Amino acid sequence: MLYRFTIILIFTIQGPLLAQNLPDSVYKCLANVAVLNADGFARLTYACKEIGHRLTGSPNGQKAEETLFAAFQTKGLDKVEYFPFPIKTWKRNSCQLEVVPRNSDHFVPIKSVSLANTASANGIWNIVDGGDGLDADLIPLASRIKGNCLMVNLDLTRRETGRQNLHRAEKVALALRYGASSVLFIHPREAEMVLTGTASLDGVPVSIPALCISGKEGKDIREWMKTSQLMAEIKVKNEISEGKARNVMAWVEAPVPTRETILVCGHLDSWDLGTGAVDNGIGSFTIPDIAQAIQSCKQHLRRNVLFLLTMGEEQGLLGSRALVAQWLKEGRLQEIKAVVNLDMTGNPLAFNDFDWPGANGFFEEADKNVRQFLPSFKEKRAHSPGLHSDHQPFMLEGIPTFSANSSMPDSVYACYHADCDNINLVQKSWMETSSLAHSILVLDLASRKKLGFSKMKPKKLVKWLKSHSLKEKLEISGEWKWN
Ligand SMILES: [Zn+2]
Repeated sequence: MLYRFTIILIFTIQGPLLAQNLPDSVYKCLANVAVLNADGFARLTYACKEIGHRLTGSPNGQKAEETLFAAFQTKGLDKVEYFPFPIKTWKRNSCQLEVVPRNSDHFVPIKSVSLANTASANGIWNIVDGGDGLDADLIPLASRIKGNCLMVNLDLTRRETGRQNLHRAEKVALALRYGASSVLFIHPREAEMVLTGTASLDGVPVSIPALCISGKEGKDIREWMKTSQLMAEIKVKNEISEGKARNVMAWVEAPVPTRETILVCGHLDSWDLGTGAVDNGIGSFTIPDIAQAIQSCKQHLRRNVLFLLTMGEEQGLLGSRALVAQWLKEGRLQEIKAVVNLDMTGNPLAFNDFDWPGANGFFEEADKNVRQFLPSFKEKRAHSPGLHSDHQPFMLEGIPTFSANSSMPDSVYACYHADCDNINLVQKSWMETSSLAHSILVLDLASRKKLGFSKMKPKKLVKWLKSHSLKEKLEISGEWKWN
């Protein structure tokens, strides 16, 4: 009896103290600021209307950098600064695709858009259907791909075990390895939609053209190929020049000076077909609201919080890579204790702990804290690390990275990188919910005495990357730097 009583007593006294560190009143105050003072939606609406797209290196992109710089200043952050870096500026010019049977002049125009960071071209090539464009699909076609136009699905259509889809840039890298002269991507939806996105993994322009065509026309071409050998005539003009972009960085500093920092990032840049309201206006324009909430309770911070809006993410994570390279050089990278990335994050329904070793206990508490204000926040946390967003360069240095899983209608995701990615897809409440959940997560990360997880050493990191099937993908992109 006494034994049980002691246990209960220990739990009652120690439990809340050890677990939460901060009194409920702090979370209440934070939640109020995170939602009631949130104006991210209004700022995003204004930006979509007055600026338009936010393509890196374009005058629009520069305006976006300045607008968000000013937003952080208005929110009263301790320090706001630019982080400039050089880029190859890519600009879309014209794109024409016609399909024609061999030895015929029956040219049929096909709606297409150029993927970014691809070369200009003027040529006519046999079309080779490479299925889903995985290595396994291309091996049997090796001799036919060389010097021809490889046509592949953006998505995975054959889902047998062991088949994992690759990013479009990874598929282009494979096409290059097989000697293709051009690439046609088929949009996953059986509609007339086309999408853009980078074909380069590292921002260095690729030497061949890569175009996207609609699911509907892709299907028609495949039908036609049953009876005729088809050729693709491609006339593409893109401009590539030397340029500059700027990440925007804003700090909330802990009251007792420390170098330990929590990084909250999201890419501000977008593609140029729509206005990037979802990718990634919904994430990046929420970040100043989170910053304001954290600023409002900064007396509780044990670590600094750096809010980072990157440019060049779409072209190959250019802004985050530049920062990681610079901080590695300066020996500052170990100051970052965790990274939270918001990319197309709206109406989050659970956190993703990336299956980071030791992070479970921390997230159990953070989940609980969020659920006080968002009862719908799911207990089912995600444990899946991914690539191709700004957390990646940090993750590959072993720094703990996290995100939240969104819950938005399918119609929103359908406009990914397409001309329909506009403000009418976004709901104000999705950004407020995101501001609330992330503010609580960031406060927990920045205020808890012990986090329970830490940087992974190379040996452990390699094992972890392999166990999440990320090795193959990183090898294709040339980023697997371990043996
Ligand atoms: Zn994005």
